[in-house]
Amino acid sequence: MPSTTQLQSQNYQELRSEALASSEQINHRPLTIPPLLGASKAELTEWVQQQQQPAYRGQQLHQWIYQKGARTLSEISVFPKQWRATVAEVPVGRSTLHYRAEAPDGTVKFLLRLADNQIVETVGIPTEKRLTVCVSSQVGCPMACDFCATGKSGFTRNLERHEIVDQVLTVQEDFQQRVSNIVFMGMGEPLLNLEQVLAAVRSLNQDVGIGQRLITISTVGIPGRIRRLAQSQLQVTLAVSLHASNQALRTKLIPSACQYPLENLLQECREYVEVTGRRVTFEYILLAGVNDLPAHALELAQHLRGFQTHVNLIPYNPISEVDYQRPDSHRIKAFMDVLKQRHIAASVRRSRGLEQDAACGQLRASRGAEVS
Ligand code: SAH
Repeated sequence: MPSTTQLQSQNYQELRSEALASSEQINHRPLTIPPLLGASKAELTEWVQQQQQPAYRGQQLHQWIYQKGARTLSEISVFPKQWRATVAEVPVGRSTLHYRAEAPDGTVKFLLRLADNQIVETVGIPTEKRLTVCVSSQVGCPMACDFCATGKSGFTRNLERHEIVDQVLTVQEDFQQRVSNIVFMGMGEPLLNLEQVLAAVRSLNQDVGIGQRLITISTVGIPGRIRRLAQSQLQVTLAVSLHASNQALRTKLIPSACQYPLENLLQECREYVEVTGRRVTFEYILLAGVNDLPAHALELAQHLRGFQTHVNLIPYNPISEVDYQRPDSHRIKAFMDVLKQRHIAASVRRSRGLEQDAACGQLRASRGAEVS
């Protein structure tokens, strides 16, 4: 496997296909003991006590798996030798690095191999003051959005909390820098895996130390789930992938939208703002000639009137399976101007690193850079 190398789109695509193909062939035996990563200090303390160890070993375990990067319990040198041997097989829950590619601007894309040999994508996006991680919440995605490479590859399974936390630790270790922001904008639909995503968010906040407000959950919208997210009382940031200014157009781009009228989605978003007091961000992918006309911008502005919101315009990143086009900068500016004239805050997502070179799934390197 190549290690640090500039991403060659074709090379990457081949590797990814190979990785996905090989992952279907090998079946690992199922884990009987749940992995420790994602567990709180209290849970780890309870666990060590069940193993007849003193409570302070829970604190040590916490420090070693979250701060010192321990991948196995046998490497925790502060533990007594004999006990280490007894628990050597207990999984911490770390993935192994399958592939790493670095873009000229410092963005790094990782393919991580999970215990059952599945592969997920994660991206580390450094900016001057931040290090943002774009995490996956599922292997593949069942939403099948027409413009999305992940959607084209189908759905395999939900990720577990340790597999989400692991992605963040992997990036942190690779960059040797603390992660400041997390965006759930990788593979998968986080609200279809809400329980594990919320468990991971809790751990990322309390165990890894990342502020809740600096964690963004991006969703295409699942009926009733934005409400549930609001009820979870977390202070995370919500981003909704709208992508269309009316129901008919949205259904064409996002097949699942046929079960979720735009008005209902927006109503749930309004409730989210009311319950949490937090702004909702809307993401709007710009597809030339499809949804990027000034009339669409006008229609969008009408829907969002009076909303505490910010619109992120995302110029389409070409994928091979469909032939949408990215609009030119004049069209993008014209769209944004219509929104601004109607007092809707909007910005264009800058393409970063890998995104320019490879439309390789859903890990869009640019998005982390703007989430505040
Ligand atoms: N399922 C969630 C999170 C993952 S997608 C969601 O849909 O929000 C994260 C973002 O990447 C979404 O806004 C999605 O629309 C966008 N995206 C997918 N394919 C893209 C492409 N080809 N070009 C630009 N953005 C894309």
